[in-house]
Amino acid sequence: MANLLVTGGAGFIGGNFVHYWSAHHPGDEITVLDALTYAGNRSTLAGATRADLVVGDIRDTELVERLLRERNITTIVHFAAESHVDRSITGPDAFIETNILGTNSLLKAARAVWLAGDGREHRFHHISTDEVFGSLEEDDPAFSETTPYAPNSPYAASKASSDHLVRAYHHTFGLEVTTSNCSNNYGPHQYPEKLIPLFLLKALSGKPLPIYGDGMNVRDWLHVEDHCRGIEACLERGKPGETYNIGGGAELPNLAVIEAICRQADRAFAEIDGLTDRYPQAPAAKGGKSESLKTFVTDRAGHDRRYAIDETKARSKLGYAPTRNFDEGLRQTLRWYLDNKHWWRPLLR
Ligand code: NAD
Repeated sequence: MANLLVTGGAGFIGGNFVHYWSAHHPGDEITVLDALTYAGNRSTLAGATRADLVVGDIRDTELVERLLRERNITTIVHFAAESHVDRSITGPDAFIETNILGTNSLLKAARAVWLAGDGREHRFHHISTDEVFGSLEEDDPAFSETTPYAPNSPYAASKASSDHLVRAYHHTFGLEVTTSNCSNNYGPHQYPEKLIPLFLLKALSGKPLPIYGDGMNVRDWLHVEDHCRGIEACLERGKPGETYNIGGGAELPNLAVIEAICRQADRAFAEIDGLTDRYPQAPAAKGGKSESLKTFVTDRAGHDRRYAIDETKARSKLGYAPTRNFDEGLRQTLRWYLDNKHWWRPLLR
């Protein structure tokens, strides 16, 4: 039995992780620490009966220390972050505050309680991104754990800084840390500002689908459940001080992902009774095609061209391999959004 502190557990990946961990480790107690920013949602945790949500800020070092002591926490899984690149371009400060200062606050608390305190066995697992490595050309080899950091957006720079802090607390103070750098996640409970839910919900309401630049920016797509399995492997078999890349094995241009969303949305109208009444504005409800909504718009400032992830180390050292086929994972994800309007409807302004 273990006691976990999951930061950002009311967000997309953290929430999926809480459900995954509860199902696979039913004896464990989970404390979720989440500030419930615009991206956090209590209802994401519905049904997670072994998880207790504490609404609070990771920058509150005293609160974190108290939780670690009082709840005898031995594992921190750190998801909490400002996570949307576009928001980091319009307002970088929150990214510095949460991603850098917040991570430092957690590390300070962990050091105070775990190292200076009772010296208990512990693990601090930090969730990071492949965006810290910068951008690849078409023929470049995929990012490995030894690729030099070259973050290009304020978001990526703030995540890179937090990765360095985590590493430094291991080397300087001996904190037992692991870090995973993953690719673009998709799946249920993702806030509808990110590509897959954003484009599906726009298509359902017949709104233009705004594609940045030429749509040929390439990303690797990782189903969130595979990511949770990868994090579990890091916690169970990862070596303190090491970093691991976790990918989904599905490298695709954004345009291909958007076209797949359109095709699958149209197919859903043919397969599911009642969708036409629920989404009368969707092109498929009027005999048309969602692809007709595609609109090319000015590219994102500093838009990285390609990310690709080499997960050889996680495969060989942790036994991790992605299991989800992208088309099937996308189909299930879209079905989840179609079935759970009560979750996403309040989030649309
Ligand atoms: P998200 O934006 O959906 O959720 C972030 C959560 O953190 C929210 O619940 C929010 O309320 C909480 N939070 C924000 N600031 C906080 C603070 N100061 N104190 C406490 N809680 C706070 O993000 P996500 O997509 O689930 O990403 C989780 C982690 O994974 C992040 O660290 C992100 O950088 C990383 N990541 C995400 C992706 C992706 O594709 N989504 C890819 C690579 C890495």
